[in-house]
Formats: sequence, C-alpha cells, structure tokens
Amino acid sequence: MISKVKESKDSIYDLSLIELVGFVDSVGEKAFRAGQIFKWIYEKGAQSFSAMQNLPQELRNKLSEKFSFSSINMSGQQVSVDGTIKLLFELNDGEKIETVIIPTSKRLTLCVSTQAGCKYGCKFCASGIGGLKRNMSCAEIISQILYAKNIMLARQKSCELSHIVFMGVGEPLDNYDNLLKAVRIINAKEGLGIAARKITVSTCGLIEGIKKLSKEGLQVELAISLHGYNDKTRDILMPVNKKYPIKELIKVAKEYIRTTKRQITFEYILIKDLTFSEDAARELAKMFRGMICKMNLIFYNEVPEFDFKAVSRAEGENFKKDLKYYGVHATIRTPRGKDVLAACGQLRHK
Ligand code: SF4
Repeated sequence: MISKVKESKDSIYDLSLIELVGFVDSVGEKAFRAGQIFKWIYEKGAQSFSAMQNLPQELRNKLSEKFSFSSINMSGQQVSVDGTIKLLFELNDGEKIETVIIPTSKRLTLCVSTQAGCKYGCKFCASGIGGLKRNMSCAEIISQILYAKNIMLARQKSCELSHIVFMGVGEPLDNYDNLLKAVRIINAKEGLGIAARKITVSTCGLIEGIKKLSKEGLQVELAISLHGYNDKTRDILMPVNKKYPIKELIKVAKEYIRTTKRQITFEYILIKDLTFSEDAARELAKMFRGMICKMNLIFYNEVPEFDFKAVSRAEGENFKKDLKYYGVHATIRTPRGKDVLAACGQLRHK
C-alpha cells in the first residue's frame, strides 16, 4: 500500500515523464533513466527507490532525498451487490474524495476524482453540495489509480485496468493542468500504458477547457454533460448554463469534432417530468444535426437532498426509441453501485 506522505518531499507521482527527464538530467544522469524509473513505478508497482535495482545507487539516493511515494490514504471501502467497489480517500489536508472501481465481464473501469468538491453545483449531483474545497494534485489523481490496482490485485490476483473515466468528484477541466499531466502519465507506454481512446474526460461544458483540450493532440474521449434539451431545462439543472448556454456549447462541440476528428458523447440525465418527452427528442435531434456524436442516457439516481424523481427502465427505453426515430444514436448507461451510493451523481467529498 502507498505510505503516508512526508510533507517536505514532493510526490514522485507529480512528475510527468518529461519532468523526470529534467530531474535525471539535473543530477547528471542520462535521459533513459527517467523511462526506467517510470517503468518501476507504473509497470512494476515499486513503492521505494531502493527497489529500483537497475538504477545506480547514487541516483536512487538522490531520488529518495527529493521524492516520496504517496499522497492519499484510503479510509473506507464499500462493495456493491453488483461488484462495484467504492473507495473513500482522505487527502493530506483532511479533505475526502471518492473513487469507483466498476468491473464487468469485458472491462475494468475506474471512475476517478479530480477535485475535492465542485463549484458548479449541478442540481442532481451530490459532489457539488458544499462547493469546491480545492483542486487535486496530479499525484492525488494518479494515486487513486494505483490504489485501485492494488485492491484489484489483492482481490483477484490480476488487474488489467482497461478504462479510466474522469467522472468522479469535481469538474476535470476546472483542474486542467493537473488533469492533463495525469492523462499523459496514464497514457504513456512507460507509464500506466492505457490507450488514450480508453480514457474519458467529462465536463459540464467549460468552453475554454474544451477548446484547449482540442489542441492537445490527444485521442481521449470527451463526454459533455448536457442534461437539458433547451436552455430552460438546462438552466434548472446546471447553473453553468447561464455562463455557457447551449448554443455556445454546441458551437464549441462542433469545433472540437472538426479539430480532433473525434466523436463526442453527450451525457443526458433522465428525470421525471423534466428532461424527457417526445418534444425533447425532437429538440435534441435538431441540436445534433450534422454532428458526429452520440448520447448516453443516465437514469437519475436519487440523492436525499434533491427532490427530483427517477424514471423507470421502460420510460428510458421509450425515450431512446424516440431519439432513434429522430435520428439520434443513444445508449443507456446501466446504473452501477447504487446500493453503496457509488452511481452517477451520488459521489461525495466527505
Ligand atoms: S455533475 Fe460534475 S460539474 Fe456538476 S456538480 Fe457534479 S461534479 Fe460538479
């Protein structure tokens, strides 16, 4: 397990490969040593520099003087009847965040947090209750993944994490630099080696962040939380819509698709008497005309603080059929981990 951080040292998980090349260079070592260190950490799961036996002793000493191996501590774990595992982590300043391991027969997905709390206060989401406490560091983001790998290794003796989704607590694009560094470590072949197409970045629709991401040359998946079929419905659920209304959001989504040649997923929550009807399906079809995109329909998961009501599976299926009729490709996300409050919108930061 990852040990508690020593405050005087930087976490090694905060360094990108390029930054590590800079460090080894600064202590008079060749650049290839950085790749070796990365492999020890991310491929072999080393928890100490002394374990890195193909490095010169002097370099191991210098790494130990400067860096530690930690950044977060696990303070709780709940396992759902469907196999979903929710992990509660305590950060070094006492803030708490949650991470969810979602195993299925075909893939092992990890839903990762990027901030302690969230300032966007979407009206269906427990993560925004209490507002934003702070951004998480790259090390804190990466540590969730390493912990999850260890837990799965201990449970089933092997762990091939196949997908990473940045859909935990926080708005990923509001913590852009740390998110991007973490994505590059996850994606690097010397790092966690997970293909960019298996990494999903979600956003509530931060236009500047979407524009910036489109120019990074990364093949990651982008998921935009839409959750309303016009400004009136989106305003009710997502205060961010006042700043970035649907028209501007769709414009930037189209630019993103043009620049990256990648499809976008629009996340869409199904709430009784609010977000779905035949009119909604028609409006959405009009909105998506000419775009390479798909919709992911999410059943609202009830949160005690909110008054919204969930819809039945049959109602969700009917809406999907309506969308199909109007030419919109939609899938329904199977809810996971509801019994341990690990499903979409239920994650908290305390
Ligand atoms: S849905 Fe995302 S952006 Fe909205 S409050 Fe929750 S974590 Fe924040």
